[in-house]
Amino acid sequence: MKLTIGYLYPDLLNLYGDCGNIQCLKKRLEWRGMEASIVPLSSESRIDFTRLDIVMLGGGSDREQELAARGLRSLRKELGCYLEDNGVLLAICGGYQLLGDYYKTGRKTIKCLELLHFYTECGSKRLVQNVVVQSPFFSSPVVGFVNHGGRTHIGDYTPLGEVLYGFGNTETSHREGLLYKNTLGTYLHGPLLPKNPEICDFLIARALHRKYGKKVCLDPLPDGAEKRANSYLVKNLVFYP
Ligand code: GLN
Repeated sequence: MKLTIGYLYPDLLNLYGDCGNIQCLKKRLEWRGMEASIVPLSSESRIDFTRLDIVMLGGGSDREQELAARGLRSLRKELGCYLEDNGVLLAICGGYQLLGDYYKTGRKTIKCLELLHFYTECGSKRLVQNVVVQSPFFSSPVVGFVNHGGRTHIGDYTPLGEVLYGFGNTETSHREGLLYKNTLGTYLHGPLLPKNPEICDFLIARALHRKYGKKVCLDPLPDGAEKRANSYLVKNLVFYP
């Protein structure tokens, strides 16, 4: 079995090395005898979303985000069909914000893709912190790091989970991220998937299910180091801060 992973705008949206998440997807497929092909999709590329099984949209500064928004709006229809057709999409921080209606920075309003109807507005200070989230979709708490100025108001969408430590979509909502069909939006930057292999396998399983039409049971991998790192963070941030 093989998955094709598209990385949208690596030239603009790769803050904190978000692209490393793609290596994690690839390695976890290969360790189980499957294949991954990675397709970087720059603003110059012609993109056929019907050939993609997983798409990643990373984070970026306001300037890069604005440039990306312009290009991505021209792909709005195709990306919208992919998302509605249960295409797996991981959207991180600035990429997450771009899926909504708009992002109001301190200076202007960036028109986003309007694929999902939520919005983001810049707050008075940046939210920079480690974060721990309890998600009903995963057995271990989700751990990560955030650094953003926007506050995302997701309305009735399903959040990724409840914040146990740090900041969520806004500093007061106590809810982090969003899950819609097979689209996961989150503020957790950088090594999200290496730190949370359960999320990586969740995305892989959904993509395999969509492509091959049967429920896939992934072989467990030796994630002892990841589990110990997760317990350490949860213990030190949530229980004995
Ligand atoms: N520019 C956005 C913000 O500050 C997203 C930043 C990011 O991707 N870290 O809210």
